[in-house]
Amino acid sequence: LSKRLEGIFNNLSGQGKLTEEDVNAALREVRIALMEADVNLKVARKFVERVKEKAIGANVMGSLSPAQQVLSIVNEELVEVLGGSDGKNKLDLSGNPPNIIMLVGLQGSGKTTTAAKLANFLTKQGQRPLLVAADMYRPAAVNQLKTLGKQLNIPVYAEQAGADPVDICVHSLDYAREQARNVIILDTAGRLNIDERMMQEVMNIRARLQPQEVLLVADAMTGQEAVRVADDFNQAVSLTGMVLTKMDGDARGGAALSIRSVTGVPIKFMGVGEKTDALEPFYPDRLASRILGMGDVLSLIERAQETIDQEEALKAQAKLQQGKFDLEDFLNSMRQLKRMGPLRGVMEMIPGFNKLAAMPEMEEALEGDQLKFIEAIILSMTKEERRNPDIINGSRRKRISRGSGTTIQEVNQLLEQFGEMRTMIRQISTGKGPWAQLARQY
Ligand code: GDP
Ligand code: MG
Repeated sequence: LSKRLEGIFNNLSGQGKLTEEDVNAALREVRIALMEADVNLKVARKFVERVKEKAIGANVMGSLSPAQQVLSIVNEELVEVLGGSDGKNKLDLSGNPPNIIMLVGLQGSGKTTTAAKLANFLTKQGQRPLLVAADMYRPAAVNQLKTLGKQLNIPVYAEQAGADPVDICVHSLDYAREQARNVIILDTAGRLNIDERMMQEVMNIRARLQPQEVLLVADAMTGQEAVRVADDFNQAVSLTGMVLTKMDGDARGGAALSIRSVTGVPIKFMGVGEKTDALEPFYPDRLASRILGMGDVLSLIERAQETIDQEEALKAQAKLQQGKFDLEDFLNSMRQLKRMGPLRGVMEMIPGFNKLAAMPEMEEALEGDQLKFIEAIILSMTKEERRNPDIINGSRRKRISRGSGTTIQEVNQLLEQFGEMRTMIRQISTGKGPWAQLARQY
């Protein structure tokens, strides 16, 4: 997506605010990305409307291109819709123990597997869970849970075939107390489709046991179908949360966005594999970038926002364009870049630097301890020398090398590098000369 947006914005430059046209063009791409991620059409439309309101007229930050600016608003909004700031994505075990977690969902959605994963997860957090086999609809279900419990060394409460699921759950409470278990996980029966008897059964269990958490386990691969299932279950048993399973497949998680905005039910966990440790707490920001397929870009945007002072960036850019670039700017840029980590990606984000970034020479210049050298040398210069490097003659070089604990050769080398960079920048910003030609190829 970010590549496509860059394309749209390539011809725009230097505008201070996002115009409606910019935003519309970008949002067309965003809508397509959402559809590709299997987001419900209505939800996508509503979402895009909201982003539009926020984006039009927003100031373009000095360090971001318009495309990145729109993307960053889209990302913020996605995180928000996925529950970024409401804190409801956490499991609530604050009731009197034993706390009960009830899992509901269609057959094959991953309930039994998730029950075991949750028990494993909670055990690692120092809890003492008990698994309860309350799926009496599928004969193999009880054994499946027993096997998983044995693997994890977590007790499983089960009864004979033909026992009533509500009774089983009620009995498990006593068993949990006897065994000093403080969390009970109920694995209930599903059907292939929404079915009245299944619903009645989970409604009965919910009413009798009053679980602290009622989690719908839904298969992310089923996309739109999962939205309907969530809506139905939520109306019948009022869910406290969801576990989206099979997120290790190609599902891009659009279902999560749809479910959250249609039902308001928070997503609490993601299943990411068949093994019992393949469960992750739900992080809205991670899923947001996955939905937009732009993980790297977003983390770069974040880092840029954290480290680049907007005004500094604008000032540096202005100086670059005027071809005025002194050793102080050189040092500041190097420091900013160093703080921002992996060089190549970061430089691409800075106006004026994006073309330079593609050049291998630049990467070399900042590797390893180079920056320390550069800092030491530049800091040993007087203000005047930094502003006007051309005055640095032989005796000044000697003084600087002594002051910085480096050799004269190293001081010379730095000045040479700086000189090259200044030439390079001047050529690129005026569009004339071999460096400008080279930059055009990148
Ligand atoms: P239930 O009928 O709802 O209890 O579903 P099961 O727990 O028996 O799971 C059905 C199938 O989905 C099994 O083959 C599981 O191994 C598989 N499964 C469950 N969760 C995940 C997951 O997060 N990722 C993958 N790849 N497979 C899963
Ligand atoms: Mg099962």
